[in-house]
Amino acid sequence: MARNPVTWMGVPTFPKAAQEALGDSQLRSNLRHATHTIRDKRAAAVGEVPDWERLRRAGEAIKDETLAHLDTYLQKLEAAVTSRGGVVHWARDAAEANAIVLKLARAAGADEVVKVKSMATAEIGLNEALEEGGVTAIETDLAELIVQLGNDRPSHILVPAIHRNRSEVREIFRNQMPEAPADLSSEPKALAEAARRHLRKKFLSAKVAVSGANFAVADTGSIMVVESEGNGRMCLTLPQTLITVMGIEKLVPTSRDLEVFLQLLPRSSTAERMNPYTSMWTGVTPGDGPQEFHLILLDNGRTATLSDPVGRQALRCIRCSACLNVCPVYERTGGQSYGSVYPGPIGAILTPQLVDDPHDKQAASLPFASSLCGACFEVCPVRIDIPEVLTHLRARAVAEKSKMSPEALAMSAMATMFADPRKYALAQRAGAAAAKLAPSGSVSRLPFPGSRWTATRDMPMPATESFRTWWKTNRKDSDE
Ligand code: SF4
Repeated sequence: MARNPVTWMGVPTFPKAAQEALGDSQLRSNLRHATHTIRDKRAAAVGEVPDWERLRRAGEAIKDETLAHLDTYLQKLEAAVTSRGGVVHWARDAAEANAIVLKLARAAGADEVVKVKSMATAEIGLNEALEEGGVTAIETDLAELIVQLGNDRPSHILVPAIHRNRSEVREIFRNQMPEAPADLSSEPKALAEAARRHLRKKFLSAKVAVSGANFAVADTGSIMVVESEGNGRMCLTLPQTLITVMGIEKLVPTSRDLEVFLQLLPRSSTAERMNPYTSMWTGVTPGDGPQEFHLILLDNGRTATLSDPVGRQALRCIRCSACLNVCPVYERTGGQSYGSVYPGPIGAILTPQLVDDPHDKQAASLPFASSLCGACFEVCPVRIDIPEVLTHLRARAVAEKSKMSPEALAMSAMATMFADPRKYALAQRAGAAAAKLAPSGSVSRLPFPGSRWTATRDMPMPATESFRTWWKTNRKDSDE
């Protein structure tokens, strides 16, 4: 079976990648600064809304209802888009979706396409597939452009270049952007101006644009993209042909449902009361905007995810990135350690489900990339219980392992010990004796098989005196 491109080819498992990232103090400092700033702003923006919890529950209910009847709503969407002059294509996987886009770009005579920031196209590796077919994809979102020019990979859902600071961005622009002035400063205004000059020519010459979709309305066939820079709107209005690649879960039943999500999304993602640009289009309008519109409905593992009663809640995600900004693991390792276009807590549950391959070690390592602190669930605007899905996927990953693995044998020995009070007391005494050998309270290096544990974390030692022993000594006369 071909490897699903949801994960990046050749990347190590999460523990290995994270260990390397933890050694990069510049990365940690860039991430800490960025995530703390945005999480504080989000908390203030959310705090202004008295019925936030009711909005969250409404978002959860709308998404659940849509997912429960996804087949019906998708057919409704197809009929509505077609009746307004659009063309709907169905793609089972990345290869099919990429082939459709390439064919359409060639048919339009384009050797260059401009792109609105889109997770779906990053998920399927569209840029690389187009490149192989002789078509260049130009990212027009500022952060995506930084990643593309830096020959880098994204590390955040909303701010893909969050791991870069301003002076790193200036260097990338100076080296890769012919229009960048030699004395380019690292001020955000100067960097944005350089990008604007670079992109203007592309917007005016592109025949084809490719976008993702934040939402699609089943009963009208309207597609919506929300953004902050206005570059998306240029892509959505100037070219002759517009191709939208959309995960099949992005649906809402009616336009009224957008009322809920247009409150939940901006406050959760950029801490804004409303996002600066909201673009919505329905099919084609003669003489106005793109005259050809193609909608590619992408499955790529979503139907399989939908069949899991616990895991399917991940399909409610509206890609706000709030869960990344509060995650203590993400803050220290950065997004690239997750080896996928979906990093952080949502990546840890969505990527393994979309990949749906128990033998993919990299994807199988992701549900373990969490401390299970629950901060992600608290901020999620559509109430995805990420810790619940994480433990569910962990159980699935463990079930796939051999019953004779060192971990399985250790767990079975522990189960025997916990089931027998005498064995438990004996183990406690042995633990208390061993604890005296490690006065610091933890051990950072053990011989095999313990080294499998200490390779990625310290081994906490038991207390030198167990609670039972303490109780016997200090409370022997108490009848409580
Ligand atoms: S899981 Fe929730 S918090 Fe995380 S990106 Fe998706 S909607 Fe936002």
